[in-house]
Amino acid sequence: MNLWELPAHRLAAMLQRREVSVLEVAEAFLQRTECLDERLGTFTFLDPDEVRSQAVEAQRRLDAGERPTLLGVPVAIKDNICVKDEPTTCASRILSGYRPPYDATVVEKLRAAGAVLFGKANCDEFAMGSSTESSAWQPTRNPWDLDRVPGGSSGGSAAAVAAGLVPLALGSDTGGSVRQPAAMCGVVGLKPTYGRVSRYGLVAFSSSLDQIGPLAREVQDAAMLFEAIAGYDRRDATSVDTEVPRVTLDPDDALRGRRIGLPSEFLGEGVDPAVAEVVRTAVSALGDAGAIVEETSVPSVQYGVETYYIIAPAEASSNLARYDGIRYGHRAEGNAGHVGLVEQTREEGFGPEVKRRILLGTYALSAGYYDAYYLKAQKVRTRMRHEFEERLRTYDYLMGPTSPIVAFGIGELQDDLLAMKMADILTIPANLAGLAAISVPCGFAHGLPVGLQFISRPFDEAGLLRVAHAYEQRTEWHRLRPPEPAAA
Ligand code: GLN
Repeated sequence: MNLWELPAHRLAAMLQRREVSVLEVAEAFLQRTECLDERLGTFTFLDPDEVRSQAVEAQRRLDAGERPTLLGVPVAIKDNICVKDEPTTCASRILSGYRPPYDATVVEKLRAAGAVLFGKANCDEFAMGSSTESSAWQPTRNPWDLDRVPGGSSGGSAAAVAAGLVPLALGSDTGGSVRQPAAMCGVVGLKPTYGRVSRYGLVAFSSSLDQIGPLAREVQDAAMLFEAIAGYDRRDATSVDTEVPRVTLDPDDALRGRRIGLPSEFLGEGVDPAVAEVVRTAVSALGDAGAIVEETSVPSVQYGVETYYIIAPAEASSNLARYDGIRYGHRAEGNAGHVGLVEQTREEGFGPEVKRRILLGTYALSAGYYDAYYLKAQKVRTRMRHEFEERLRTYDYLMGPTSPIVAFGIGELQDDLLAMKMADILTIPANLAGLAAISVPCGFAHGLPVGLQFISRPFDEAGLLRVAHAYEQRTEWHRLRPPEPAAA
């Protein structure tokens, strides 16, 4: 078997037992990337020599007897997470040329865990989108069908993991950007509880919703990466100082007697019947494994998209005010004075989706509209949180599809912005309510991967991973790989 085909936990074990060297592993993924990256458009930056020099350093640690969990394992980093001295552009022209002078906390933690940082993964501009088409640099293609999107906004991370260019990747999830591309590319994606993983060094989109999360081929790999990045950080004021329990996976026992609620809204209007069918089959598999699955309801879920598209743009309009051509990245030419410079820089630097969000957010926050939109949206958000809290007293977990549709064609929804945004309807609630959620592969509809989503109470990632793992281990979906793209 090729090294690039192995899940991260097996690679890590082989490295620790010294059955393979760190450099061999790095070379296997570099070679794979060299063959496929151009066709897939997964990376915005990759410096093979830098990867090699990290591999040499990891090997030195291994030789010195160190055994941190991710020693020698390559991890791709979404391009909105700061890696010291590497371009961090958020796939936006406005940050072209920006190299942060510091590492994000998650990157610091990955270095400590021995991971080999493997380039920057493409995404929608400032993580705003569901298809990775709004990247200023290139679209990313879905390895299962190169004419389709990989989902988004962490599409580069998901496609890279699915195609075996890396065993692990980090993404960020504000309204579904880890789970939805994971679902569309047939891999695992975890959105941790808000406050579980430090946002220090994650370029802010919507600060009350953003969370960094792992993408991997298998749940056990996602668990490893989650454990490496989770934990309190005093540099993020919303980071929560609570213990990160060790994740212990037990596929034989994790489902027995678990009460799982299936909100009817998650299989309602807008969900492709072929996707719903696949999810119903997963429900019976869970039942066979001893789980008690019951229909329930979380009525406010139906207002999730409207609520999100007030709150997220409002926060984004404020967070993006800092891109003025003076402090970071792109600066317009000419000397139109201060206001002219800022105007021209932002006009040139931001793409259409980002501009739309800034306009929307500024409008929603302006005097006279604040109560009607922003305040109202916050009230719906609170109500949704209460509804989820209530349901999660009855049920251990909630479940449903991750995305109502499978991967769509590149360009297909470009003129139907509403349809594109409705694609987030099942992922947004966990962000608005601050819960943890995971997507695992559960089958195929129209020949394309479908993701199954489990949602847990805040800070129960360990339980969520156990349940997802128990389901995964009863299926073969995680073993299926996309077809090898024909040689160019
Ligand atoms: N697709 C959603 C949006 O466009 C979510 C993006 C995200 O989670 N970063 O805002």
